[in-house]
Amino acid sequence: MNISGVRELDVVVVGAGQAGLSAAYHLRRVGLKPDDAFVVLDHAPRPGGAWQFRWPSLTYGKVHGMHALPGMELTGADPDRPSSEVIGAYFAAYEDRFGLRVHRPVEVSSVREGNGGRLLVETSEGTYATRALINATGTWDRPFWPRYPGQETFRGRQLHTANYPGPEEFTGQRVLVVGGGASGTQHLMEIAEFAAETFWVTRSEPVFREGPFTEEWGRAAVAMVEERVRNGLPPKSVVSVTGLPLNDAVRRAREQGVLDRLPMFDRITPTGVAWDDGRVVETDVILWATGFRPAVDHLAPLKLREPGGGIRAEGTRAVRDGRVHLVGYGPSASTIGANRAGRAAVRSVMRLLKEPGGVRAGGEAGAGVAVPVPGAGPFRLPAA
Ligand SMILES: Cc1cc2nc3c(=O)[nH]c(=O)nc-3n(C[C@H](O)[C@H](O)[C@H](O)COP(=O)(O)OP(=O)(O)OC[C@H]3O[C@@H](n4cnc5c(N)ncnc54)[C@H](O)[C@@H]3O)c2cc1C
Repeated sequence: MNISGVRELDVVVVGAGQAGLSAAYHLRRVGLKPDDAFVVLDHAPRPGGAWQFRWPSLTYGKVHGMHALPGMELTGADPDRPSSEVIGAYFAAYEDRFGLRVHRPVEVSSVREGNGGRLLVETSEGTYATRALINATGTWDRPFWPRYPGQETFRGRQLHTANYPGPEEFTGQRVLVVGGGASGTQHLMEIAEFAAETFWVTRSEPVFREGPFTEEWGRAAVAMVEERVRNGLPPKSVVSVTGLPLNDAVRRAREQGVLDRLPMFDRITPTGVAWDDGRVVETDVILWATGFRPAVDHLAPLKLREPGGGIRAEGTRAVRDGRVHLVGYGPSASTIGANRAGRAAVRSVMRLLKEPGGVRAGGEAGAGVAVPVPGAGPFRLPAA
């Protein structure tokens, strides 16, 4: 700590979801010590990243595929248990096994230029001065609500996927779901079992994809998002470019008319939504399944955004400031992408730390050289 009470470190990781934990694991592997050379900060109350907040009916069996964190598999998880519980317990065990010492709940409010080429990370537990920042803040904290005329006049209930409580609360109600992504279709299929009536509104015609999700398809989707980020455009979600998987449940819902889609309405009325051609739908609830945006407001003082609205990155490294690495952002916003990005970011950070100035004394002797990390073998979730 220096005299002004600012703690000096080599690396600050913001966010302890899949991306942040992967980065922390790799920082340990290259010999940096948690709480000494690096620190991981997260404002959520518990381990689990955004998964801890996902609705109880999103069971582990319903997620599209959760890639294990590096160095510790997850086995024997009951597909009927909420993914929030399963992944929360898995991440907690992971942090513990690798001694990652996540600081929580700690809010990172801003990152700005400091002295001597360091970044100042202002947090609810004080200020850190760091040589590199790995930003792993995901998107959950920034739900995207589009604005439509008349929205404030609606007398029913409006909510977003981020506050979705599960389907039972909508028993006997008319529910309109907005959004053509995976969350929207999942909400509809669940709610239709309880609601009096459901409606689905999407901006463009949804694309359903036959056949299994192949690696090749995944790669092509990631490449499309990567291209946007390279060009400084706001990233799209990977799902938005892969289309919706046509599994048995989706097929059934389509046959039952649950996924009959209406085009986007023109305005919201006190009792529903309306189109300029005279059509109206009366509804009790509007559920906005309209996605999320990267939670990067705390980086605003660094002025990383391009005129296109996105942060341009080469790999994980922000083009406008090579000290900042973005993981779980754009093309790496999936559990597998987050894992890879964590590793890539650490490689890049280590190159940076070896530049003049070197790794400060807090790093273990020989930092930058792979060291064994404790533990091996899978994590088996204890029975509920
Ligand atoms: C409903 C839903 C289902 C999904 N299903 C899948 C799936 O099946 N498979 C898949 O691969 N991907 C899925 N995804 C994408 C998924 O979110 C990512 O794959 C991955 O889990 C994101 O990890 P992350 O570490 O980037 O972000 P997160 O898990 O969101 O972690 C970010 C962390 O940063 C913290 N944070 C944010 N801002 C701050 C701040 N200012 N200060 C301090 N801490 C902060 C948060 O508390 C959080 O813990 C899904 C996404 C959604 C929304």
